[in-house]
Amino acid sequence: MNTRWDIAIIGGGPAGLMAGARAAARGRRTLLIEKNRAPGAKILISGGGRCNLTHACDARGIIEQLGPQGKFLHSALAALGPNEVVEFFRAEGVPTYVETDTGKVFPQSDRSADVLAALLRKLEFADCELAASEPLIELDREGDPVENGFRLTTSKRILHAEKVLLATGGKSYPDCGTTGDGYRFAEKLGHRIIPPRPALVPISTHIEAIRALQGITLKDVLIGVLEAQVSNLSPTVGQVSNLSCPKLNPKRQVGNLSYARCLGSRRGALLFTHFGVSGPAVMDLSRIVAGHPNPSALVLECDLLPERKVKSLETSIALECASGGKKAASTLLDPWLPHRVGELVLETAAVPPDRRLAELSKVDRCRILHGIKQFTVPISGTLGFRHAEVTAGGVALGEVDSRTMQSKKVQNLYFSGELLDLDGPIGGYNLQIAFSTGFFAGECM
Ligand SMILES: Cc1cc2nc3c(=O)[nH]c(=O)nc-3n(C[C@H](O)[C@H](O)[C@H](O)COP(=O)(O)OP(=O)(O)OC[C@H]3O[C@@H](n4cnc5c(N)ncnc54)[C@H](O)[C@@H]3O)c2cc1C
Repeated sequence: MNTRWDIAIIGGGPAGLMAGARAAARGRRTLLIEKNRAPGAKILISGGGRCNLTHACDARGIIEQLGPQGKFLHSALAALGPNEVVEFFRAEGVPTYVETDTGKVFPQSDRSADVLAALLRKLEFADCELAASEPLIELDREGDPVENGFRLTTSKRILHAEKVLLATGGKSYPDCGTTGDGYRFAEKLGHRIIPPRPALVPISTHIEAIRALQGITLKDVLIGVLEAQVSNLSPTVGQVSNLSCPKLNPKRQVGNLSYARCLGSRRGALLFTHFGVSGPAVMDLSRIVAGHPNPSALVLECDLLPERKVKSLETSIALECASGGKKAASTLLDPWLPHRVGELVLETAAVPPDRRLAELSKVDRCRILHGIKQFTVPISGTLGFRHAEVTAGGVALGEVDSRTMQSKKVQNLYFSGELLDLDGPIGGYNLQIAFSTGFFAGECM
């Protein structure tokens, strides 16, 4: 059995598979070590089994979505950008399509298994050896300085490699094998780790009335994360004293709390669940919550009908009340919102559900309007790493050469994928990061 390799790649996710295929295709004797019985566990579950493999944009579009960290990807995206990813899979018999309203790119078959199979074919064709069910336990610099390589202790044997790529992912969805091992290896070799935190994760609330809405989805909601100025009190749902949506006027009151800052906002579907809220917009905002020192000082403020201007909605509600006569107030919002959501809005506006529509005062109607435009979800936290699609934080980018993916501290050590302090929003950005940085490392090693 061969124990000496040119290149050892640790982790058989999209980053490691791309890197292995590329490095081996360049003629380097390459071994890919994977902890699980089979590689690509996250590819298989990605996009709900459909695998949103990239986004329909150019390299700049990817970089822009990643904020300040995005510029780290210039060289990697120049080597393999979104168009090249699409072309890569097309050439492997996996044509793709773009979901028109989101820009997400999926395989035409809507089967993530096809994406993984294409990567495995590439790996085999390039003659990259795959060692599955073999977790790396320790990674050390080789004693012999001339060799300038690494000693790898796996669960089964000791190996030697001239160059090593760490592509072990983050620590979210730990059942997929991603238990943060790479942070330990990198740290031991002298790298700084930006504290990992869950991202793209559902948000929880302690408010029973909101949890009771589980199963309901609102297709289009504008959601803002607001931060309390005073954080020693817990906000309660619906105690709203002035009318504003986060973008219009970020300074407002909820209960005894003054919400001074809108930390971010997103528009999209809102799903109510037994623990709180989920859906793409909530998931995208979750990195703000997970990275906040005191998440319970935050609320989500939701405009449940962002398409409707305040004035026009006010008029519609007044008309509905005028024509509704003896009908119960509980039916007021049925034309616009699911009945149970409407009932909660009324409850938070302190309007009895059995009051007749004709009897609602202007103040009642104004409170109801507030309840729609500033529906408040107090936050208790996130569902944590177990349910996070991505890990934010990781190997500090300043210590990795973005022109090669090589460590600036340890010669011949490389990094790629989610292990790095890089993460993107929902939409195919995270797989693109993994593909680009993996391919580029395979090219440079
Ligand atoms: C439910 C879910 C859905 C998602 N959907 C999408 C989507 O549709 N689009 C998108 O862009 N992103 C999606 N993501 C995110 C995306 O899957 C990840 O960002 C991506 O897989 C990261 O790739 P990676 O290669 O860096 O790491 P990973 O895919 O996490 O792979 C790391 C590999 O390293 C192995 N490993 C770890 N430690 C060791 C060790 N000590 N020895 C050997 N092997 C080890 C692990 O077993 C694993 O196979 C989703 C994530 C989840 C959890």
